[in-house]
This record gives sequence, C-alpha cells and structure tokens, in this order.
Amino acid sequence: MTNLPSPTMESEQFFDEEEEVPLEKDSPLHNLILLRTLQEIKAAVETIDVFTVPIPSRSANVVLSSLRAIVPTSLQHLRRLVKPCYIPDSLVDFLAVPTTPPEENILYLLVCPVTDISEENLRNFLQELPAFSTTGVVPRIMTVAVPSSQPISAVQATEWSAKYWPAVYKRGNPYGPHPSIVSQSLRALVDPEKHLRLAKQVATQAASSGEGLGFGAVIVDPQTGQILAAAGDARLRCKEKGWGNPLDHAAMRAIDMVAQRRLGRTQNVRPDNKVEVWDGKYLEDEEAPAKADTKADENSNTENEDKDGDADDRKDDGYLCHNLQVYLSHEPCVMCSMALLHSRVGAVAFGTRMTRTGALNAEEGGRQMGLFWRPELNWKFVCWQWKAEPGEEMKSHENVDA
Ligand SMILES: [Zn+2]
Repeated sequence: MTNLPSPTMESEQFFDEEEEVPLEKDSPLHNLILLRTLQEIKAAVETIDVFTVPIPSRSANVVLSSLRAIVPTSLQHLRRLVKPCYIPDSLVDFLAVPTTPPEENILYLLVCPVTDISEENLRNFLQELPAFSTTGVVPRIMTVAVPSSQPISAVQATEWSAKYWPAVYKRGNPYGPHPSIVSQSLRALVDPEKHLRLAKQVATQAASSGEGLGFGAVIVDPQTGQILAAAGDARLRCKEKGWGNPLDHAAMRAIDMVAQRRLGRTQNVRPDNKVEVWDGKYLEDEEAPAKADTKADENSNTENEDKDGDADDRKDDGYLCHNLQVYLSHEPCVMCSMALLHSRVGAVAFGTRMTRTGALNAEEGGRQMGLFWRPELNWKFVCWQWKAEPGEEMKSHENVDA
C-alpha cells in the first residue's frame, strides 16, 4: 500500500510521548486521587459534529492537502486518516465500514467541523478532485460526533479512541496541571498518609473539646519536611465575648499559625519549632507580636541562614504559605479554599469529600466549584483526595462548611 505520513494510524499507540515512570506498586501515593479541574470535566463531555468521508488510500495525502485550501486546519487532537480497523465499534455500522478485503484500500478522512463548510460545498469540492472525478464515485459524506478538545491523558485518549474517534494525546494539559507538575508534586508530598492522619487526629480533638467541629488541618514545609501548623476547628470556642468565631475553621487557623510563626521568626520572639497541635490554646491568646519589619530580612542571606534548626527559611515573598503542603481531614469550604489560594499553597490533600459545601471538587454531584484550578484566579495548586479504606473515612454533617 501507499506510504502514508503520520496522520494514518499505524499502531494502537494513542499517545505521542513516553509515559511517566509509574509509581511503585505498593506506594501509598496510589491512595491519592487527583482532582480533575472544572475545565477538564467540561472538556471531557463536549462533542462537536464533524464530517467524515471514506477515500481511496492512495489519494489520501492529495485529498488532505487539497482540503487545507478550503477549510481551516483544526482537529489536531484527532487522527485525520483512519484505517477501517481503527474505527470505533459504535461507528462501524453507521459508517458502513467494510470488514473484508479490500478494506485496506480505503481510509476514513476526518474533514472538519460541520460549521466550517456546508455538506453541499464539501461534496462539490471533493467531486472535482481526481480521487473521485476519475472514478465517478460520489463522495459519501457522513457526520460523526467527536470530542471538541484534546484529551488530557493517555488513558482518556484511549477511551475516546474506542468510543468516538482515534485521538492523539500530546503530553500537556491546557485545562489543568501539566502531567509533569502532577508527577513532581505527587512525589514531593511529605508522608501524606501520616499528615492526613494527624489532620484527622486534631479534628477529633477539636470535636471532643467541644470548642470546634470535627475538622483538622496540617501545614507542612516540603523543603524541610517540618510541620509548620496543625489546627483543629475552633468556631464554637467562646472567649470573653461569650460567643464563638464562625471564621475559626481548621484551615484558616492553620494559615494563621503559619503567619504567627513567621512573625515570630522575623522578630525572634518565637524561636521554637514546636508543632502547634490543637491543645485548647490558641496562638492569639498569647502575647501577640507586632507586625514585623521585613525589610531587614530582604537584605539578609536567606539561603544560608538558619541551617541549624529554624525551618522557616523560605524567601519572604509576602505570601504566607507559598508552595507549602496542606493536609485536611475534610474538603474545605469556599472561605478556606480561597484563603489557601490567596496564601499560595503548593498542594492540598484532603480526606472526606464534602459534597454540599466543599469548594475544591469539580465533579458532578457536588458544587462543582473546582477552586484549586480556575483560569480566572491568579493562583492554582494541585489537589488530591485520599481514598479511605472502608470504615476509615471521617463522617460529618453534610451541610456544614469544613
Ligand atoms: Zn472552611
């Protein structure tokens, strides 16, 4: 048969570049389920109608290049010329795909979206080409629905190839974190199992103290592996005023602890590295340090100082939790999710999904906010849910903001 360039599928390889090195079989990281972004979820279900036409394989390249003159080049994420054997089962009858020889003599050409040209104009154009004009065969133009956007993983490309049309996966992701970012972030997580367990532990302590609901948060510095804050919810805690603070959610308190810690370091009034686990005492009850003058810090050599213990040697860029890791017992509410975003955290893993109040998940069956990765927001982070063993998941009232 004619030698054809890359558009023709020569194998069942649906992705263009090599895959990431897989995790070890028994890695606990397998328990972390990557959250899909809102755009990824939308892209996964949107299809467009496109024209396809069977053409003689020997004329494939000529027809394809001729078409470029009249319709814009699009559909880069789909195979343009497909052998009959790679047409998805669901389309075989509809396209009347030949199953016996000489099936190798035809290819199915994916032409363009139906919005780019009318069927009549396309037919007239094709009939003028030698592939049809010399044989007198009338082009058999058909319409099929294909995914409108590119697949975001090799797995998705394989699924689409079996369901809609052979798809091409190019490593990259316009709708969410690039696979290499996901892979790096995942491997950079500092003992997520341990820190999620700690988040659940402080959640239990917060609830049993009666001063908060059963939610917990832990913030870890990936550069040092050190826990910078561990906080339970404290919204029910009554102080001298006699009522609780509805803003005292676990994540808000943990972020605040990091702030207090950093102030302590810059003023050298809190040199300890103690893990601030919820113990019924809140940092703001202590003598509040005044706002630090960070100017002096900018002039110091942050790379070399504090080698001997103080873990907070991050560059003072004005963002409290820049690239820190956050472990939460539950999916956070809108307020906490936005606070994490504004603090510029690097990665979040949470335990229980909060279907009615959680703001990170973008999947159906919830609020579908997907705040961790939205194009209109000026910071994004990678987010996972820890897949709990049966009976291990922390339950809580579904209407409550965590
Ligand atoms: Zn919250």
